[in-house]
Amino acid sequence: MERAGLAPNGLTAIVVSHEHADHAAHAAALAEEFGVPVYLAEGTQAGLPEGPALARVERFRPGERFTVGDIDVVPFAVPHDANEPAAFRFETHGVKLALAVDLGYLTGLVKEQLRGCDCLVLEANHDLEMLRRGPYPWYLKQRVASRLGHLSNEALAEFLECDFDGAARTVVLAHLSENNNSPEVARLAAEQALKRRRNRFPLSLSRTPELLVSQRRVPLGPLRF
Ligand SMILES: [Zn+2]
Ligand SMILES: [Zn+2]
Repeated sequence: MERAGLAPNGLTAIVVSHEHADHAAHAAALAEEFGVPVYLAEGTQAGLPEGPALARVERFRPGERFTVGDIDVVPFAVPHDANEPAAFRFETHGVKLALAVDLGYLTGLVKEQLRGCDCLVLEANHDLEMLRRGPYPWYLKQRVASRLGHLSNEALAEFLECDFDGAARTVVLAHLSENNNSPEVARLAAEQALKRRRNRFPLSLSRTPELLVSQRRVPLGPLRF
């Protein structure tokens, strides 16, 4: 947040999607340091690893809207191998952003929640061929590629070509695997898919969105709408 020019003590809440360590490991410490509540689903809380207890918990249920300050939040269920995993649609002052990472595939419900958003932050976890040839043990390759694993570049490309409604001005590729993907490969797959979409729907009035690739350890600049 500091690198993006934002003061961490401006945090008002932490919203946790599921209990996996790369999403939840330090939620309790962060919440304590900044004195903010943690929003999570019941199953997520039950699945948190041993550690300091959460001081202030706000429970949400996937499918039920809640509010944090002036932000409306709609959590929705995603297929992933966690207790009660959720993705989110955030809306404030007429701007809508959806964040969906850690999901094995795009269900009808997810696609519906992605419609009409100004910004989509979507998982482009792995390239199928890189995963197949990569260093992971077989069981882990199967887990990642399964319907309860992570979204591939190819699955995201199919969405961008066939199901994307063209509303978003910005699409951010996120949660890229360090071993089984690269920013260049992920971007190329998405760019080609958007090109095919233009050919497929030549009369569509929607613009092609700006593509951003989020990277590990380097924050994206703030997005303004
Ligand atoms: Zn993750
Ligand atoms: Zn996960």
